[in-house]
Amino acid sequence: MVFGAGAVRELPAELDRLGAKRALLLSTPEQKESLLKVSKTLGSRCAGTYDKAAMHVPIEIAEDARRAARELGADCCVTVGGGSTTGLGKAIALTSSMPILAVPTTYAGSEMTPIYGLTEGGAKKTGRDLKVLPKAVIYDPELTLSLPPALSASSGMNAIAHSVEALYAQDANPVISLMAEEGIRALAKALPSIVQQPGDLAARSEALYGAWLCGIALGSAGMALHHKLCHVLGGSFNLPHAETHSIVLPHAMRYNQDAAREAMARVERALGAASAPRAIYDLEKGLPLPMKLADIGLKEADLERAARIATETPYPNPRKVEYAPVLELLRNAYSGARP
Ligand code: NAD
Repeated sequence: MVFGAGAVRELPAELDRLGAKRALLLSTPEQKESLLKVSKTLGSRCAGTYDKAAMHVPIEIAEDARRAARELGADCCVTVGGGSTTGLGKAIALTSSMPILAVPTTYAGSEMTPIYGLTEGGAKKTGRDLKVLPKAVIYDPELTLSLPPALSASSGMNAIAHSVEALYAQDANPVISLMAEEGIRALAKALPSIVQQPGDLAARSEALYGAWLCGIALGSAGMALHHKLCHVLGGSFNLPHAETHSIVLPHAMRYNQDAAREAMARVERALGAASAPRAIYDLEKGLPLPMKLADIGLKEADLERAARIATETPYPNPRKVEYAPVLELLRNAYSGARP
């Protein structure tokens, strides 16, 4: 892990360390320019670029990128982007065992986890495999300066959600809890500054540091009701990933508040507040974020079906997952009520 402003210049040295000679560079179409800049630092060690990464890793794109990697004779993938781009690198690594060197440009945290996702026939499947865990990660806050305030806020809250659930996970442990609490503190401090001044490099560094910690929390502890709900809302109702996380989080925390007192106390300490779900809600209110599921495309008539799917095969959760209170949670998230 390399961290610091300008750290992307360490890319050739990191490739040396991995023993990689021909890197395939990946990005989304929107980040093609950043990709080309990074590719220039590699000279002849850039085997080629592939800029068609897309949200939730559609299998057709994964197969096309795997073919490109083979045809170009690549021996390593460099991902320059957010969770969608890292996810495409993971899809290639899954079938080729090619090492990934990740250069994250959002706060989603995928670069720190062995979790992959692929979407086939409209359904997203996720799994865990150490083959997809990046072998090296370069965190360069300068590459996040262009992340728009709204995307910064939603991906930062997505990261905070990873840490919150790691704090009350069935397999929580004291070291990961320290990291999760610190990750929440760093992001909660940085996000309002970033929204006010997207070019604030100190705040960008703090946020990326928080994202790193939250990514480790996600990769190390099992997730609970909040992640299950977001998975259902994204997978079955096609809601946008990061915004869904930020809207649902305070309500999922309210659901678990009494059953996870120690975890809530850590969040309260990180935020300097008396009620963890309210403090998260109030933090979000001050950021350019949608606060209601109604505002991001969910229909009121879908709430019961969402509650049913989410409670059929629940993830382990501190409070028993039951249909009626989960429906109430979703109704509150739908209307954006303060918990
Ligand atoms: P994303 O990667 O989809 O990026 C969102 C948009 O922001 C894209 O258009 C991208 O090009 C643009 N962008 C990214 N960085 C930018 C920058 N610095 N400047 C300007 N534009 C930039 O968004 P995300 O929230 O990072 O990732 C979401 C995806 O990642 C979801 O599919 C989610 O399931 C997955 N994810 C996976 C894991 C895991 O552990 N496997 C963890 C978190 C998220």
